[in-house]
Amino acid sequence: MAPRRMKPLALRWLTAAEQALARAVFGSGIRPERVRIFAQPVFPRPFTPGSAGIVYPVAESLTDFTEGALADQATFVHEMVHVWQAQKGVILALAKIKAGDTDAAYRYDLDQQAFPEMNIEQQARVVEHDFVLQRQDTLITGRPPPFPADRYEALRGWWFAP
Ligand SMILES: [Zn+2]
Repeated sequence: MAPRRMKPLALRWLTAAEQALARAVFGSGIRPERVRIFAQPVFPRPFTPGSAGIVYPVAESLTDFTEGALADQATFVHEMVHVWQAQKGVILALAKIKAGDTDAAYRYDLDQQAFPEMNIEQQARVVEHDFVLQRQDTLITGRPPPFPADRYEALRGWWFAP
């Protein structure tokens, strides 16, 4: 059964399954029960304005992201990284300006960069790629994450709190 979409301008809390997914990725380091999803009809991409929620375009706003395809779940994990960053005190609007929005802003090199030194988009990509590698070898785009799974696993202590 295909997952259902939220109605335009609908606002909801994370489902129990989404909260469980967030805890599986971040452990005790995140408060998913404080996070809401808002479905908006204008801007074409998901974004996370702060620690309290994620704004999704209606076309991508599922009523439960854990019931979506791997790509939907990976995007949800990516946005939850921004929630996690904000809950840790990062001012996302300023950090986003600093990071930029080009492809290069998202590209990272595990050989050259330590996780805490990465910008918010690079960090989100790393966690997203670790999540994808735990479930499938390649992204939906057909492009595999640029490093082998054990390289991501070795970094998990940066975002997972027991
Ligand atoms: Zn992002």
